[in-house]
Amino acid sequence: MVTVFYKSTRDSSIRVESAAAIAKGISEEGGLFVPESIPSISMDELKSLAGMNYAQRAAFVFSKYLTDYTDAELRYCTESAYTTKAFDTENIAEIAHLFEGTYMLELWHGPTCAFKDMALQILPYFLTTAVKKLNMDKKVVILVATSGDTGKAALEGFKDVPGTEIMVFYPVEGVSDMQKRQMVTQEGENVTVCAVKGNFDDCQSGVKKIFTDHTVLDALEKGGMTFSSANSINWGRLVPQIVYYVSSYVSLAESGEIAYGDLLNVVVPTGNFGNILAAYYAKMMGVPLGKLICASNINKVLTDFIRTGVYNRNRQFYPTTSPSMDILISSNLERLLYDLCGEDSETLAGWMKDLAETGVYSVGGTVREKVQGLFYGGFCEDGATFATIRQLWEQEGYLCDTHTAVAVDVYRQYLAQSQEKVVPAVIASTANPYKFSASVLQALGAEQLSSDDFQNLAALETLTGIASPAQLRALQEKPERFTQVISRENAAAYALEALGIPT
Ligand SMILES: *Cc1c(COP(=O)(O)O)cnc(C)c1O
Repeated sequence: MVTVFYKSTRDSSIRVESAAAIAKGISEEGGLFVPESIPSISMDELKSLAGMNYAQRAAFVFSKYLTDYTDAELRYCTESAYTTKAFDTENIAEIAHLFEGTYMLELWHGPTCAFKDMALQILPYFLTTAVKKLNMDKKVVILVATSGDTGKAALEGFKDVPGTEIMVFYPVEGVSDMQKRQMVTQEGENVTVCAVKGNFDDCQSGVKKIFTDHTVLDALEKGGMTFSSANSINWGRLVPQIVYYVSSYVSLAESGEIAYGDLLNVVVPTGNFGNILAAYYAKMMGVPLGKLICASNINKVLTDFIRTGVYNRNRQFYPTTSPSMDILISSNLERLLYDLCGEDSETLAGWMKDLAETGVYSVGGTVREKVQGLFYGGFCEDGATFATIRQLWEQEGYLCDTHTAVAVDVYRQYLAQSQEKVVPAVIASTANPYKFSASVLQALGAEQLSSDDFQNLAALETLTGIASPAQLRALQEKPERFTQVISRENAAAYALEALGIPT
């Protein structure tokens, strides 16, 4: 097997193996790690996955990307992560038939009820294995900026994992009550949770500064610790997401819904561009995926980018009912653009510099055409999101959350506009509807919402007869452990203090 090396998008002289890329999280000069070449998967290999369970399929896909991990290490990681202890279904991800040729890929059967679990249940095993392999006898400090779902999923993945500390920062504006409650009640000896004034972008830029501040890094080094990231900029977050696109293709072929070789479109409700980028990698590997349909809410910076080739974050930011997609800087787009501009790290670094300095960059005609060949971009406002939830419930008997509804609406826009032959499609369903009970209840026409999310959860259960997840119900009884609110300028100082490191 050929070794797959990882390069930084912004400095092509940096070249490391996967364990180092995962342990570092982000490259020192701010670039993201990307595989030097995307491994391929043959039709015979795809077919060979049919008899395997999810953990085995995952180990197979990982063996192509994480070539410095042994088979035994990969099996240890996958068998530890993808268990029925953590997930409420043996299939780990479920596929539901929605309507003619359209399938819901339910990625929310894990401990925190959102798709982030698919990656964050396994990342701690990748990371602690990497640290052992690299003979680093340092404590790994995980820093997370979250728009809601990542934080909780990372906390659940890392809590009480030996040799790790985890610190989660969430924006005061923009996370739902239930999301906040999930985080501030988090158990575990190695966890810290802190609110940051502002929105997700404020929060993310505060955390990014910690990563690149030399005073902080030096102090940390002296304290015998090293930072890593559980955000989707970490390659160890992205590679597990490739698995479910490969796996769902195989499952649909195995059950005869599609034939091997048929094209399958993919629809993804998108924020940081991580989940849909994983679909792109699956397609580039050779899985017969068709159009990658990128669904945004009214914060439609990606829709505009796909349509015009101009990325412009200088715009009004709107808090929406799909908060995990309320993002104006989609970090993982950098990885796609690196590929599409011919791995030209200088050009790429220039665009990222433009973005940092002016909030805008333009990729030009050639890259724009490539983007448009691969992706369709669309957006959906809250009104249409609600209408979709209601319509799916009333007409299909399917209950979905707000993020998933955005994807369904954009998929319908695509169908209405597409000149191409319609092929089957899988829609990534990214959260359990109970995680956003108040919005779902409102969408279904409830006259009165409670200010207490647990009452909304109970009301939604009564209305639909669908059981709510036990782990959400249980939050009501748990005490709040974390109440601090800071401004983003103080994030670095706060982090060092929380770690007990003198400055
Ligand atoms: C994180 C998240 C998204 C967006 O995923 P990206 O990888 O950031 O594009 C969509 N829906 C839900 C429920 C999420 O938690």
